[in-house]
Amino acid sequence: MRRFIIVHYGEIGLKKANIEYFVEKLRKRLRVLFEKRFKRNFSIKHSLSRFLIALPGDFTYGQEEDYAKILYKVFGIKNFKFVYEGKIDIEKLSVQIWENLPAFVRDPDSKPRTFRVRVKRSMILPFKSIEAERQIGACLLRSDIGIKVKMENPEFVVDVEFFNNHGYFSFKKYDGPCGLSANSQGKLVSLISAGIDSPVASYMMMKRGARVIFVHFHGYPYTDKAESEHVRELVKMLSDYQFDTKLYLVPFGQFQKKISTNLDIPAKIRTVIYRRLMLRIAELIAKSEKARGLITGDNFGQVASQTPENIFAIHEASTIPIYQPLIGFDKEDIIGLAEKIGTFEISKLPCKDTCGMFMPEHPEIKANIYDVREYEKLLPLGEWLSDILKKSEIVNLDCN
Ligand code: ATP
Ligand code: MG
Repeated sequence: MRRFIIVHYGEIGLKKANIEYFVEKLRKRLRVLFEKRFKRNFSIKHSLSRFLIALPGDFTYGQEEDYAKILYKVFGIKNFKFVYEGKIDIEKLSVQIWENLPAFVRDPDSKPRTFRVRVKRSMILPFKSIEAERQIGACLLRSDIGIKVKMENPEFVVDVEFFNNHGYFSFKKYDGPCGLSANSQGKLVSLISAGIDSPVASYMMMKRGARVIFVHFHGYPYTDKAESEHVRELVKMLSDYQFDTKLYLVPFGQFQKKISTNLDIPAKIRTVIYRRLMLRIAELIAKSEKARGLITGDNFGQVASQTPENIFAIHEASTIPIYQPLIGFDKEDIIGLAEKIGTFEISKLPCKDTCGMFMPEHPEIKANIYDVREYEKLLPLGEWLSDILKKSEIVNLDCN
């Protein structure tokens, strides 16, 4: 029997005039990832709000995970399933379902206790979905499936979609990451540290379709290399969600040192000045990359630099929009997301980070923007900016 993957998308389906644009981006992404991983061509048809991806003739149940691993990371996908292309005639289809039931359903040791049939139709048929569910269910019971029917929360679901003149059936539905197609929304520059928040913030904006370019400010040689190494790993992990990814590694320690040793600048205001310099550099990178905004992992009230006064004083240095998708989240929720996307394992590793370097003991929590601007005049910022950019390293990372 012919096997396919049916991919359903989520929010993309709500697009009206420009739906084709998002669908094509998604199709291209699927094609590139599959062909890269399996070294062969794939037919990927789009029909009635879903993709139908033809699986090779020698596809086996055990290979589902290989394909699923890719699809879990394709933004835009709501869910997907590995289907058999069955008949449209219910009696014949029921027999096909019976013959192809997964082994665990027949094994007394792993047999589920309850099941139901769920039918969806996207074509005109002489029967209603509920009638088809009953008939297929009755046929499986007659064939001695040996499991009770349970409509609410059954342990096992036989899923059937009628469309394209076939009854496509499957036994497991996988969740996709949702969101909009990768790279469908233009570029943003994300300020990424080795911490927990900024990788999650970057992920969230990628999920909304932004193509993300990363910039990390490192303190080397004042910090060890572990921080930049962790950031590289995080960016590598995130690059699976988009096409090739660029990471700017910006040497920042020496400038932090210069600010911290300027005795005319009060120690407590330093953090705000460091952050403003980071934003200015990120903005220059954004301009050179034709990116339309910045991303930070800022979170309201989490640390001293994130009081409303300080966020105001820091963000004022940027003339382009700053997206802060985590601004209203609880830390626990951010950690939950970091665990889900896999970045937490790296983010929680200890390292001497740039943020903690040359920090005042008592940072200002209500920075005054007029004072900050005056103190900045004591620094040769223009000169620094071009110098810092020249010293930056660009790393190109490709998805797995
Ligand atoms: P994170 O967990 O993302 O490091 P945080 O809770 O430590 O965030 P801050 O240290 O105040 O918060 O940083 C706020 C934001 O500034 C970060 O989320 C990140 O976007 C950016 N940022 C901080 N340090 C760096 C760095 N060394 N390089 C690039 N961006 C940074
Ligand atoms: Mg941090």
